[in-house]
Amino acid sequence: MYKQIFLKPKKEESLKRFHPWVFSGAISHTDNPVEEGEIVEIYDSAKNFIALGHSQIGSIAVRVLSFEKEEINEIFWVKRIRESASARTSLGVSHSTTHSIYRLVHGEGDLLPGLIVDVYGKTAVMQAHSIGMHVHRHAIADAIIHVLSPNVSAVYYKSSGTLPYKADIDVEDGFLVGNSTEGTALENGLAFYIDWLKGQKTGFFIDQRDNRSLLEKYANGKSILNMFCYTGGFSVYALRGGASMVHSVDSSAKAIDLTNKNVTLNFPNDTRHTAFATDAFKFLAEMDNAYDIIVLDPPAFAKHRDALKNALQGYKRLNAKAIEKIKPGGILFTFSCSQIVSKEQFRLAVFSAAAITGRHVRILHQLTQPADHPISIYHPEGEYLKGLVMMVE
Ligand code: SAH
Repeated sequence: MYKQIFLKPKKEESLKRFHPWVFSGAISHTDNPVEEGEIVEIYDSAKNFIALGHSQIGSIAVRVLSFEKEEINEIFWVKRIRESASARTSLGVSHSTTHSIYRLVHGEGDLLPGLIVDVYGKTAVMQAHSIGMHVHRHAIADAIIHVLSPNVSAVYYKSSGTLPYKADIDVEDGFLVGNSTEGTALENGLAFYIDWLKGQKTGFFIDQRDNRSLLEKYANGKSILNMFCYTGGFSVYALRGGASMVHSVDSSAKAIDLTNKNVTLNFPNDTRHTAFATDAFKFLAEMDNAYDIIVLDPPAFAKHRDALKNALQGYKRLNAKAIEKIKPGGILFTFSCSQIVSKEQFRLAVFSAAAITGRHVRILHQLTQPADHPISIYHPEGEYLKGLVMMVE
């Protein structure tokens, strides 16, 4: 059937605890040369079957798809997409009359490592982070339609920026199934214009949904600064929550256009909102408004381990400025989406920021990613979004 990979003695331990990766250093030998993206079976040194998955060249040599011996075919993909979809239904985030934005597949958290699928109304946007998922893209797209039709009728493939560059394959983004020009979808009754063609990630940051809802609860009568606004998600929720004034800031002019578009979609002719295309640090240094609430949701400051120290320094500097400037009794929502920055490290950076200002700061909420971005308990690396909501006296 599939080619076989044999592990060195004792190297099966983490797999037996359902960790979904095999590191190259754990491999003793293979029965035949393995091609990148191919399905391989993994055996322990006593030749017992452990798991099967996608092979890849690099330090993560295999990404596990199943801990059972099974055929990876159309039936497999339909079964697994159906499992992911029914989990989303039971979480209450799948299609309804007021909601059509959710993450259908969250990589390792759905035991589909290397695959992200986000749903925006009738369109599913699929992103492969491994060659194996790229190889299977058509079967996966067909499975998505099979399971989610008629709610979803198109699958857009967006992997040109996410596949490992070493693989040296030419990938073009485009529709694998259907076609959709419909650009808006609903999140908790709010409409968002999603630019999956040119937008960041799959076009929208679904992972902040619950945290945007929390902001909405605090927003009534408040002046709010949404820093690093991108599509303006936090701003739109704040406006619905009754904010007296919302300022959105992003250094990208395209992001500011999207924010203005989304505000207008939901609150046409609302004069409470203004957006600024400028650098966050510059805005914070120069602003004379004291806000009741500040949201800081910067891009990942560290994508690689060697950038960790600078990233922590960046979080400290940014948070210190916001804590220094926020109104007495103000509330700061602060986030880090850097996977390599731990919850503890982020909190320490914010602690150092608070200490610089000398203000009294209390933690009200500790936030993370929502339920459609599940974290396998055996793969804690999947936890990437960290947030603190703090009251500054
Ligand atoms: N809060 C957003 C997601 C933020 S993504 C949401 O809920 O959807 C990070 C954003 O930070 C990007 O849009 C990027 O353009 C912006 N950005 C990056 N560096 C910046 C800087 N120095 N100043 C202001 N914005 C910046």
